[in-house]
Amino acid sequence: MSTYVTANPTTGVTEREFPGLSDDDVRAVAQRADAGFRQWRDTPVPKRAEVLARTAEIYEKRADELSAAITTEMGKPKAQADGEVQLAADIYRWYAEHGPDLLETETLDPQGADESIVQRRPVGPLVGVMPWNYPYYQVVRFVAPNLMVGNSIILKHASICAASAQLMAEILHEAGAPDDVYINVFASSSQVADLIADPVVQGVSLTGSEKAGASVAQTAAEHLKKSVLELGGSDPFILLDTADMARTTTIAAQARLSNAGQACNSPKRFIVLDELYEEFVEGLVGQFEAVTVGDPADPDTDMGPLSSISARDGVAEQVDTAVKQGATLHTGGKKLDRDGAFYAPTVLTGITSEMDAYAEEIFGPVGMVYRVSSIDEAVELANDVGFGLSGSVWSTDLGKAQQVADRLEVGMAYINEHGTTLPGLPFGGVKRSGYGRELGRWGMGEFVNTRLRRTSSK
Ligand code: NAP
Repeated sequence: MSTYVTANPTTGVTEREFPGLSDDDVRAVAQRADAGFRQWRDTPVPKRAEVLARTAEIYEKRADELSAAITTEMGKPKAQADGEVQLAADIYRWYAEHGPDLLETETLDPQGADESIVQRRPVGPLVGVMPWNYPYYQVVRFVAPNLMVGNSIILKHASICAASAQLMAEILHEAGAPDDVYINVFASSSQVADLIADPVVQGVSLTGSEKAGASVAQTAAEHLKKSVLELGGSDPFILLDTADMARTTTIAAQARLSNAGQACNSPKRFIVLDELYEEFVEGLVGQFEAVTVGDPADPDTDMGPLSSISARDGVAEQVDTAVKQGATLHTGGKKLDRDGAFYAPTVLTGITSEMDAYAEEIFGPVGMVYRVSSIDEAVELANDVGFGLSGSVWSTDLGKAQQVADRLEVGMAYINEHGTTLPGLPFGGVKRSGYGRELGRWGMGEFVNTRLRRTSSK
């Protein structure tokens, strides 16, 4: 049996199976991607931009179908799935509009020659390894800038996202990307390693867990290929003061429970100053208990299932361990008594540095609230984890909040918002959250040959 399946997490029923890539075809895929690259790098930049613009249009035209596919395969509520499809279209459009300027040749001070210029050239075929939590957005933020640059792509999506992976490939080809310029593969981890090792492949980008990132980066390093890693996070949400606690807890709950808490940059740790702590916990618990959990296809549902039974069981085990180790459970902490991968929104407090939950990422609908007595303590706690993806500071005093934000060891710091991602803003982390950046002009700088051409007449 292939490992690529649509296993509907709302019902627990396996709906479709997809044949995996055969070992005999791995080399041929790399060779096709190389042939595709040679064709694509010589395709004029405006033509490449047209393909991206057409892709954005098709995403909008086929939005309902795209949205329904991810609701089925990973349980994303319809409104959130619709939003993700639109974001994917926006990213394609952003690169179609801004990509050509970002690829312009730069003229330097000649420094002793007649001319010194820097050209931005593609590097070759790339491998993308992507996760299931935002099946379109994660893929598109790697693919759109790299197709714009002129690289070709071999894409290995999460094994539960085969249906959305096929749709994405179909749309790019319909928009005019040649078949060998974007190749979707249902590959195993060892086949991914073989693809990375193939001499024609020039780099790999992985979004996913630390374990997968380390494995892929190790293979890339052995073969002297560049890697970009977008890994996990346990983002802090630091509350200094608020003029409206009800609004603050509403935003906090929405941010944490969006996508059933399965976002790398979800605010997993709420760090609250002493005088606000009791009111915040009470408000957050109220918000978590008010959430409608159910069928993600129903427009009234706020939160669907987790992406799979095993993902749900992993979260349940982390919460059980935290409670066994002495954390206080305020609400939730249980699987729902129905088919599928449902888990109740959960609030934990009293987590100490000795407990596993202090340092782990909990990839589900679980808010951990910490009480601190000073700003210094808040910053120290925020930075006292291995991750460094993003963090937010909440206050009516913007200057004070900016000072606190500047002390966070993260790739993205927000004041009075959390986790905003837009096509023109950089996305990425530091520490164990990975390296490299996606989106905006930064996302077009990772797999580019920044090539010097110097001309001297004597
Ligand atoms: P995962 O298990 O690491 O899977 C991600 C992708 O890597 C999947 O396509 C998976 O394939 C593949 N994979 C796993 N092990 C591999 C290996 N040894 N070699 C090659 N490919 C391998 O992660 P996940 O559970 O899907 O996603 C959750 C994690 O991703 C969380 O930690 C989350 O924070 C992180 N994430 C980070 C960002 C970011 O931008 N920083 C964004 C979203 C998610 P299979 O599906 O076939 O196993």
